[in-house]
Amino acid sequence: MEEDTIEKISQIVGSDYISTRDDVLLSYSVSASTGYDQVKPSAVVRPGSTEEVSKILKVANEANLKVTPRCGGSSLQGEVIPAEGSLVIELMRLDSFELHEDLRAATIGAGVTFGKLDKLLKAYGLWLPVYPESSLVATVAGNVAVNGAGPGSTAYGCIAEMVLGLEVVLPDGRIIQTGSEANPNAPGPFLRYAFGPDLTGLFIGSLGSLGIITKVSVKLSKRMEEFHYQTYGFQEAEQAENFLIELKNDNVNAVFASIYEGRILGFFMDMLGEEYHIPEHDWPPFTVSVTLGRLRKDQLESDVKRAAEICKDLGGGVIGISELPRGEWDDRMRTFARSSYAHGWHWRILYHHQTPSNWHKSIEAIWDVMDEYALLGHTAGFATGHSSYNFYPHLYYFPEDEEEEQRVREAHVDLSKRLFKTGAVPFKLAPYWVEGVKEMQEYMKVLKGIKDVLDPKGIMHPGVMGGL
Ligand SMILES: Cc1cc2nc3c(=O)[nH]c(=O)nc-3n(C[C@H](O)[C@H](O)[C@H](O)COP(=O)(O)OP(=O)(O)OC[C@H]3O[C@@H](n4cnc5c(N)ncnc54)[C@H](O)[C@@H]3O)c2cc1C
Repeated sequence: MEEDTIEKISQIVGSDYISTRDDVLLSYSVSASTGYDQVKPSAVVRPGSTEEVSKILKVANEANLKVTPRCGGSSLQGEVIPAEGSLVIELMRLDSFELHEDLRAATIGAGVTFGKLDKLLKAYGLWLPVYPESSLVATVAGNVAVNGAGPGSTAYGCIAEMVLGLEVVLPDGRIIQTGSEANPNAPGPFLRYAFGPDLTGLFIGSLGSLGIITKVSVKLSKRMEEFHYQTYGFQEAEQAENFLIELKNDNVNAVFASIYEGRILGFFMDMLGEEYHIPEHDWPPFTVSVTLGRLRKDQLESDVKRAAEICKDLGGGVIGISELPRGEWDDRMRTFARSSYAHGWHWRILYHHQTPSNWHKSIEAIWDVMDEYALLGHTAGFATGHSSYNFYPHLYYFPEDEEEEQRVREAHVDLSKRLFKTGAVPFKLAPYWVEGVKEMQEYMKVLKGIKDVLDPKGIMHPGVMGGL
């Protein structure tokens, strides 16, 4: 990176907020994705305002300098690993918080983590009801950039469903606002689909390749305090799947629901059973772990009763062990952090959405691939909204074993192809999906056209979003 470009950026942010020191570059060459190679950027800058982001992008555009936006750095598919020699723009100093209490909405800066937001909202009896299991470090803006999900999503869907508008800096430095706030006279965020087609959606899931999100406006809800935790057992996958479908059909409010089959449950028990005080049990072939949540006790009581009836009608039984769902929900901001890194393995993850009725197809594909490639691993997942089920299988390897790591890389692409055939859809659109799946080529061409218009020089985080 040219000296005079560094000098120009330094003048924008102040010399304390730009660094080319090797130890700093090393820190920003990695993310939480243990399975990805590190790449060092040429500099890291930490702007303090949207205007500074805009000025930096203007300088980068002029200098043809590649940039990598970064918030919490907790993504797991290498999404935030910088392009070779790029400038990392880290947005954690953008930590503004504006509550629009009458609109049940908030506008927050890109550096606000879910954990911090939850603390702020708790004081008002409100919440943003979706919690990625990395909430203590993951930001809402970063999660919007990947369209993530988490506990709470079973009732409320992915984070995209929560977004009312975005402030975005485009690659050429222009600042745009989407949603109702695009009208500067509007009292705040109250409508996402204002001003014609949905520009907000263009940036959700765009992995930082179309612009930098500097503020996110989100819907809030009154904070629930009434919960019920239960496990339900079934002999057949289809019964467990129909249980999730019928809970939805009957408007039983599961805020977090997961199906565990024997092999997965065994893995989870090894990792978290003791810590969550889950008693020894002869588990059925399929266990559905459910946290029901409601604002009012009468609603909750009705849901508890109805869930048990649905379970029995489908031929299942109420297991009566509440520690598993209670542990998942109470520990929702960090469960996964504990379980994933437990044994010092490295791993690759493969995010996809499936329908609840196709849950078994993902499971079959995942176990087939693990067995064929002789890999250790597990899969986790949970229902995510209207009719989807979010899966994230992990393929493990010993960091020292290069041959095993190579097998994991190959299995990863193979699994994405097989999952696509089952009807699964990718999210966090990592390159391996596109490499492996030719049916996506037309779609990717359109995305490329949009990218070329917004970012003709291709400076914004090239390589992510399926290689664009
Ligand atoms: C232990 C653990 C548990 C996890 N559990 C979940 C989970 O339950 N659900 C889930 O969805 N994810 C989960 N993740 C993955 C990750 O934490 C989330 O996706 C998270 O929301 C990413 O946010 P971040 O702030 O860390 O983004 P980063 O990792 O910094 O960035 C993610 C991507 O978005 C881009 N980006 C970041 N900020 C911006 C911005 N302001 N504007 C434009 N582009 C930007 C980056 O370039 C990158 O492509 C987990 C990760 C870990 C380590």
